[in-house]
Amino acid sequence: MSERNEKVLMIPKIKLGIVIDHIPAGEGVKILEIISRYEEMQDVPVTLGLNYDSKKMGRKDLIKMQLEFLSPEIIQHISIVVPGVTIKAIKDYRVYSKVVVQAPKVIKNLLLCKNPNCVTNLESGIETLFHAVDEESNRVRCNFCERIFDRSELKPIIK
Ligand SMILES: [Zn+2]
Repeated sequence: MSERNEKVLMIPKIKLGIVIDHIPAGEGVKILEIISRYEEMQDVPVTLGLNYDSKKMGRKDLIKMQLEFLSPEIIQHISIVVPGVTIKAIKDYRVYSKVVVQAPKVIKNLLLCKNPNCVTNLESGIETLFHAVDEESNRVRCNFCERIFDRSELKPIIK
């Protein structure tokens, strides 16, 4: 069903690669931003598609990358910023594995605390730590200052 729709998309099909699908419309740029910050991704051809029709979501964004593997670190990073997307691996033009990525319950040293008075911002060498507040929302609590933030408002740490 949805594989049929895939065929009429304007994005070129890829023989080998990774597709990030079911990105809420407007969020594709955020994922592109994450990808572009990693050095290992600098030479990888990437296509970003915006506002495709989606039965499930109305509109969606889509990203195709010509590489064999996406590192677990990047996948985790994406799952924190835009949880719920589908990551598909393509071989010989066909999907051979796919996974829906959900944000982890514990986020260690991947996001910066927004509280300027938080010890993680005042002292160097302290790894940040956030815990998901509940299952449904995107809110996380800082382990150190105990303030609660929306996950999307926290800046990612790039190593
Ligand atoms: Zn904090």
